[in-house]
Amino acid sequence: MFNNILLEEDKRVSWAYFLHNNPLHLDLIFATIRIGSPLLTYLSLSTDWHRRGNNRLWIHHLQGIAQNRGRKIVAPIEKVVIVLSGGADSSTLAYWAKSKGYEIHPISFNYGQIASKETKNAKVIAGKLGVKIKVIDVSSLKQIFKGSTVLVDRSMIMPAQFESKVIVPFRNAIFLSIAVAYAISIGSIKLMYGAHKSDEPFYPDCRKEFVDAFQNVAKIGTEMDMTIENPFYKFSKAEIIRIGTNLRVPYKLTWSCYLEGEYHCGDCESCVNRKNAFKEARISDPTRYES
Ligand SMILES: [Zn+2]
Repeated sequence: MFNNILLEEDKRVSWAYFLHNNPLHLDLIFATIRIGSPLLTYLSLSTDWHRRGNNRLWIHHLQGIAQNRGRKIVAPIEKVVIVLSGGADSSTLAYWAKSKGYEIHPISFNYGQIASKETKNAKVIAGKLGVKIKVIDVSSLKQIFKGSTVLVDRSMIMPAQFESKVIVPFRNAIFLSIAVAYAISIGSIKLMYGAHKSDEPFYPDCRKEFVDAFQNVAKIGTEMDMTIENPFYKFSKAEIIRIGTNLRVPYKLTWSCYLEGEYHCGDCESCVNRKNAFKEARISDPTRYES
């Protein structure tokens, strides 16, 4: 029966009208919502309403129909792809999104960074959250990044504070592009990444204008109502640490250092920011630093 519906996906079918007149389908849809079947996502993605960005209206209408029939509809669990580096910010984001009821799908990248421990720590954090993580190997990008960023190039001198050489050129755009593709493959239209207020002055691909523009690209490039969010854009790194502490994020298992030592070096720009954030938040820092 659903096959017939799915065949209609590219026609401008009014699902609401269809459901009004097909109670059996409504029951089936209730069932798919309850069990969180990807079929619902597929159905909602395939509606014309959805294509116009009115997915919430569709769900709302469905809830209205349910109420009229004396039924209660459980809102579908929304899937969100989280760009998870294994650092303090993105790990907090993953915990936060889970606490908000999202079904989280973390994705992490090996882009040839010296701090190869990042992806290992991201896996550990995902494990703590009880979810699987996609680790994507784009390490050949090292050929491009070498010479321009200290995060990849061992021959460059590591700074203790911000310098343009800690910027990996266009990194977030590259990661988000892959994350959009991943989202579509799992029936998700929402992405989150951990850019925050303390990043904004220094990193152009962490700014609101970038997020808005990239979201627009994702919408146009997929014909779907993709949303890209950095929910912590109003918070400093210290405030994120406070949020995460309340959510019991195991910061000891996260990795911020740009280097690959056994412990955090304590001297690179990222370690310094991490130390300062814990101090500013007045939360005891569980990180072991080499200095
Ligand atoms: Zn470090």
